[in-house]
Amino acid sequence: MQNGCGLTDGVRFDQSNVPYSSGFDLSCGMAAALYWYEAEVDRLAREHLGTGLARINHLGSYACRNINGATAGRRSQHATANAIDISGLVLLMDGRSVSVLADWDRRVRRMPGSFTPLHKRACGLFNTVLGPEYNALHADHFHLDMGRLRACQIGQSIRAGTLGFRPSMAASAEAALSSGTLPA
Ligand SMILES: [Zn+2]
Repeated sequence: MQNGCGLTDGVRFDQSNVPYSSGFDLSCGMAAALYWYEAEVDRLAREHLGTGLARINHLGSYACRNINGATAGRRSQHATANAIDISGLVLLMDGRSVSVLADWDRRVRRMPGSFTPLHKRACGLFNTVLGPEYNALHADHFHLDMGRLRACQIGQSIRAGTLGFRPSMAASAEAALSSGTLPA
């Protein structure tokens, strides 16, 4: 760890059950959650899109940077590889790609093939889950992290600071969510 960046305990995530667009480093907590999540994404793709996963596309895990890429302020969860940005999926049957950028549409989020089931399931496994509805910086990916704040926003439905976290943290998570200052 140097200057708030780095990885003390972690794993290289490059030989999991589902292939990724490239290998990456992750904190142990993230690796465990992602291992469960990829099986769930595969299951949900079969259920909602009729085929399993050939690949999960991502935009990276570790990056020594601050929240929202700002020049000042606190470090992002990416600075300790405690986060990953998922940008889309490649489907097994026909090699079709679905991407958050091209296929996310808040108007059709209840339709089959939407990203909502994936988003919802992520909220049960990761502490913070952010998508296009959080801010413009997340227009092309889902941010998943295992930071101390628990926050999940799907449309108007917002959950913050639940499940065994101190009540005071619910308030900080909610405040950070609404002001766009979660460590993403
Ligand atoms: Zn992110």
